Amino acid sequence: MQLDPQEVRQGDRDPCSAKGCQADAVWALLWNNPKIHTPERRKTWLACEEHRGSLSDFLGARGFLREVEPHRPS
Ligand SMILES: [Zn+2]
Repeated sequence: MQLDPQEVRQGDRDPCSAKGCQADAVWALLWNNPKIHTPERRKTWLACEEHRGSLSDFLGARGFLREVEPHRPS
């Protein structure tokens, strides 16, 4: 039995969180919405190189962004 490489690859990928973007994520944006999350809680958005700026601006403008760190696919 052979595995379809396309399917294997899809299961392994961590795509960017930007709407409609299928690029592999290289950044993890850690954020927290103080209105709905406890202070130590972190939500994660993944971003490709292209969308790191727009996604972090979106979170930063709302005061949600806490940390940005390199993302390495597991
Ligand atoms: Zn992207």
